[in-house]
Amino acid sequence: MQNNNKEYRFPAFFDSHLHFLGIGMSSKILDFKEDRSIEAILAKIKSTASAKAIFGRGWNQLDLVEKRMLDKTDLDRVCPNTPVVLLRVCGHVACINSEAFRRLDLTFENIQAYGKSIDYPRGLLYEDALPLLDHLRDVPSISDIKDCFRIAEKMLLETGVTTILSDDFSSSPLPYPLIIQALDELYRQNECHIRLIEQVNLPTASLLADYLKQGLTQKRPGNWRLGPIKLLTDGSLGAHTAALRSDYHDQPGQRGILNYSDHELGELFDLANLAKKDCHIHAIGDAAIEQVLSVMEQSLRRTNRSEHRHAIVHAQMADYQQIKWMKALGFSAIVQPIFLESDIAMLDARLGQRKHETYLFKTMANEGIKVCFGTDSPVESFSPFTNLRAAITRQSVKDASLGQHLPKETFQLAEAIGCYGANNRYLIRDEKCMERDYLILDKNPFEIPIDELDDVQVLRTVIKGETVFDKHDRRTLSSSK
Ligand SMILES: [Zn+2]
Repeated sequence: MQNNNKEYRFPAFFDSHLHFLGIGMSSKILDFKEDRSIEAILAKIKSTASAKAIFGRGWNQLDLVEKRMLDKTDLDRVCPNTPVVLLRVCGHVACINSEAFRRLDLTFENIQAYGKSIDYPRGLLYEDALPLLDHLRDVPSISDIKDCFRIAEKMLLETGVTTILSDDFSSSPLPYPLIIQALDELYRQNECHIRLIEQVNLPTASLLADYLKQGLTQKRPGNWRLGPIKLLTDGSLGAHTAALRSDYHDQPGQRGILNYSDHELGELFDLANLAKKDCHIHAIGDAAIEQVLSVMEQSLRRTNRSEHRHAIVHAQMADYQQIKWMKALGFSAIVQPIFLESDIAMLDARLGQRKHETYLFKTMANEGIKVCFGTDSPVESFSPFTNLRAAITRQSVKDASLGQHLPKETFQLAEAIGCYGANNRYLIRDEKCMERDYLILDKNPFEIPIDELDDVQVLRTVIKGETVFDKHDRRTLSSSK
């Protein structure tokens, strides 16, 4: 890093898990991240021009003065005739109104097949019931999808992110070959520059087997390629769907949802291991982490695979023993310090005393696990400096009064930067890919107080030696070759 007329050269960022398409799509629906009451959310819905269906995202009951989940009756009160679908910030639960149930032909009687995934009286849909909501959307065209990617790329380059591992096959109702087509077209025409490694999310063994059989070329046009296999084994803590080994502190009798039986998960792992693919596996609750480790251990043995770069995505509830097991099996951890921004406020309620063995990211690093930072955006902001600040302070700016969550788990800035670059490059088996990427910043992050990190401005973003964003020249991207 060098000082040059108050401009500082800095390494570019690599976000190890987000939803590139989801970021673009979220910018086109109602956003409730800043709303602090149910009434404010309802006022926004009411003022929305009568669309065919109203979609929104970003509410979090912990941020609302009412401190409760949205409810079907809230939505019915302001919107009795138009379907309304409001995803919680985590994307693992949605509140819908009575008209949405009616359009989906879901009645109290016929929802039994979905078990706990549909709470009809409260209007809440969880996990495997969520894809039903696609029936209320207009199916986007390839051109709509390309537009969303363009919007998201611009936002990411402006914050200094040049490389992403991204899960996009699950973000829209479009079949994944069309997502591949959209990306091929964008990169071939030089409309996208960000280095994209797709986390290939195909949730069933038949879909995955079919994908592998096609033998698609991993290297695609320009800076994008097909990457590791992505799987989700449970939900989120906020939605009470992360799979726990003991009951939720605030919901006795409830332990969340495991998406697969051991047998089903083993089948998916075997397919990936036999094809020499790495897996990035979403697991938040300790029961989900336990399942991933034990089923993967068996699969590695069964398929005779010794070399791999598998990773657990999130791993918030990995306890000390599971961390040792992760290390022994050679797992990396794809984690999101920025989750603390929203989660600190609920850990006590959800987990009680168990909260003292959560988000052990520094312990993982000390054990020798590659800790890879990301944001899971649009779940949280993709701002690298906000994420770095969260890793260093372990505190929420939103809820500063709650104090630090486990101060011994804080990172130093230099170490945190490694978790945003080198460790992530290990995951994609391309340690040199960002050698000619860098940023020009307005401040030296090493010379300012930690709580000013969020204010650092990116003046220029460079990929492979080419400027792809220049704060003083808004046309850079479109005019670059
Ligand atoms: Zn995600």
